Amino acid sequence: VTIYTAHVNMLTVDVEDWQQSVVNNRLPVSGRVIDNTRRVLNILRMHRVRGTFFVQSLVAEQYPDLVRDIARDGHEVGSHGHTHHSLVTLTPETLAAELDQSLRILRPLVDEPVSGYRAPNFSVGRDTLWALPVIRDAGFRYSSSIFPFDGRRYGIGDARLEPHEIIPGLLEVPLAVVEVAGHRLPVAGGGYLRLAPYRLTRLAIRRIAAAQRSTVVYVHPYELDPGEVWAVKAHAPLHLRLMQGFNRRATERKLHALLSEFRFAPVREVVRLHGGAPQPRVAESAT
Ligand SMILES: [Zn+2]
Repeated sequence: VTIYTAHVNMLTVDVEDWQQSVVNNRLPVSGRVIDNTRRVLNILRMHRVRGTFFVQSLVAEQYPDLVRDIARDGHEVGSHGHTHHSLVTLTPETLAAELDQSLRILRPLVDEPVSGYRAPNFSVGRDTLWALPVIRDAGFRYSSSIFPFDGRRYGIGDARLEPHEIIPGLLEVPLAVVEVAGHRLPVAGGGYLRLAPYRLTRLAIRRIAAAQRSTVVYVHPYELDPGEVWAVKAHAPLHLRLMQGFNRRATERKLHALLSEFRFAPVREVVRLHGGAPQPRVAESAT
């Protein structure tokens, strides 16, 4: 049973503030997240593309208007948790509390249901599969949290590559990997998008489409902010600043290229969440 519209890719944006989400979870959320997210919104508006924004509710709590603006542009709003703590540091109880808090903050800001969740650092892995029923029971219909490759910091090497019902009542919409010579390589997101030449990203997405799958692309607003890694005053190791700042200048250009070349829609319009046909906006325009 096909549960999604292949050939329509999904653009996902993890809305978080670099110094708080990456450098140190105890630091405050800075206002840079506003300009950076608005930059992403402007680019999407230019291409008339709508996506799914997984918003960290610590950001939403501080900047509720930002979330209203995301929703007003027709994007889907999902949750990226509250604190950006990896699931490996949480228990079923603390995750449940965090998801509950996140939904209490996000729901009043958007008219549509908040159906999707993305775990911080793609931290649904072999050791954290206990999180799946917790995510479902919090009220989410899908999670987009598994990177189906053997990563150094995350990933499940033999996880399924296409959206599927991972436990009864919860779909998993995995991040994109491309299979090359028996290896699974991550593509089209975050550092992989920043580091790889665009022609490789294009090749990977075409290959995924040839295999009748959709590509889930992810970006962070801060990846469009080249100056940030040097502007942040908080203690951050040099290698982190170098790695995380590398090629941020190219993100905007690559995003424009992706959006003009491939078709994208929010996750909830590509994946069947309620057992019926995919929602009409995608079905009507599908070619
Ligand atoms: Zn994140």
